[in-house]
Amino acid sequence: MLSIKEAEDLIDARARRLTAVAVPLANAWNRVLASPVISDVDSPPFDKSMMDGVALRYSDIEQGTMSFRLVARILAGTSEQPVVAEGECVSIMTGAPIPRGADTVVMLEETEGNLESIGSTIRISQPPRRSGQNVLPRAATLRTGQQVLPAGHAIRAHDIGPMAEAGASVATVFPAPTLAVLATGDELCPVNQLPKGSQIRNSNGPLLSAMAIPYCESVRDLGIARDQREDLLSKCREGLAANVLVMSGGVSAGVADLVPGVLKELGVCEVFHKVAIKPGKPLWFGVRENDSSSPTLVFGLPGNPVSSMCCFHVFVRRALLKLAGRESDLQRAYATLEIPHRQTTGRTVFWPSVVAESDAGTRLSPLDWKGSADLLTLAKANAFGIFPGERSEFEKGELLQYVWLARNES
Ligand code: AMP
Ligand code: MG
Repeated sequence: MLSIKEAEDLIDARARRLTAVAVPLANAWNRVLASPVISDVDSPPFDKSMMDGVALRYSDIEQGTMSFRLVARILAGTSEQPVVAEGECVSIMTGAPIPRGADTVVMLEETEGNLESIGSTIRISQPPRRSGQNVLPRAATLRTGQQVLPAGHAIRAHDIGPMAEAGASVATVFPAPTLAVLATGDELCPVNQLPKGSQIRNSNGPLLSAMAIPYCESVRDLGIARDQREDLLSKCREGLAANVLVMSGGVSAGVADLVPGVLKELGVCEVFHKVAIKPGKPLWFGVRENDSSSPTLVFGLPGNPVSSMCCFHVFVRRALLKLAGRESDLQRAYATLEIPHRQTTGRTVFWPSVVAESDAGTRLSPLDWKGSADLLTLAKANAFGIFPGERSEFEKGELLQYVWLARNES
């Protein structure tokens, strides 16, 4: 059976990033840049006043002049171009271009006189200390042709401002994948129904859809397929139109486990079946090559809900990130075991746990989990503790690895 690392490597090799597309800036958030963002402007585009006040020549101040004749008024966005001569000043607003001749702005609060009245005398009560005070020179923050963000950068909300300034109204990015979710099983009924007889609710469909949303362009829930070849064929065919098809159930060794066979009929080539992880051993992964578009990755997750969820968290999410041009973000970290722990297994166990961070360190408490069908315990967990399969007993105080399910939630 494959180790977790071997399975991850096989997924990485198949999950090649999708073809870059041009998207409007508003849709670029959370995508990875396929080409750098280069500015088509200087910022500011001219020497710019950073204050409301008066613009004047610093050389006048150096010569001891403290009274100036007001010759014009300049607002932000103006096209007027007054000239400031010796002994003259103009009234200027924040963001307006410094007029020719002037080089320094004195803020309003440091002037006396009527700034509304052209021709009046303005006195400077607090002389500027240097030439260029309150002036942001042209191209001080950004030059035409300068790289704003490199290719490969994952765009955060606060990157949108500099991108907009640089004129990136359209950005070239790797798209996030489209994904379809299909639950399989004769025993399943939709969530909005009360299960009858031996039925159970399809919890995997909504669970997997919700887990996929942050990593996908779109998520389509295809509902439930029955354990019959025809129904599986038609619903899988629909799902294969997405970049990634995630199925749950029907991949174990039972007589109703038809999924691998149906996928093969539809041209999906198996990459692996079964991984040494608990929960999640029956995991199936395959790829279908498509003529004119990127291959479709197909994950057949085990039906038991916690197995399904664990496989999604560890393996599917990794593939979704890769397709979008990112690296896996599932970092393993260390925590101190809070209570002794016992297990029976030969596989690495991902055990629903609570991880708490404090000044005293990070502590891991495995929950009282009843196995892969026990969903309620997931609602209490914020992490998976990772217990190596070679040992069955772990003592309080041992250092163990864990991965977050949801950081800083307990
Ligand atoms: P399977 O992998 O199809 O053999 O299913 C294993 C177990 O998971 C069975 O007990 C199923 O009833 C349960 N199961 C399968 N699919 C789902 C689902 N979509 N939601 C909740 N439980 C499921
Ligand atoms: Mg089944």
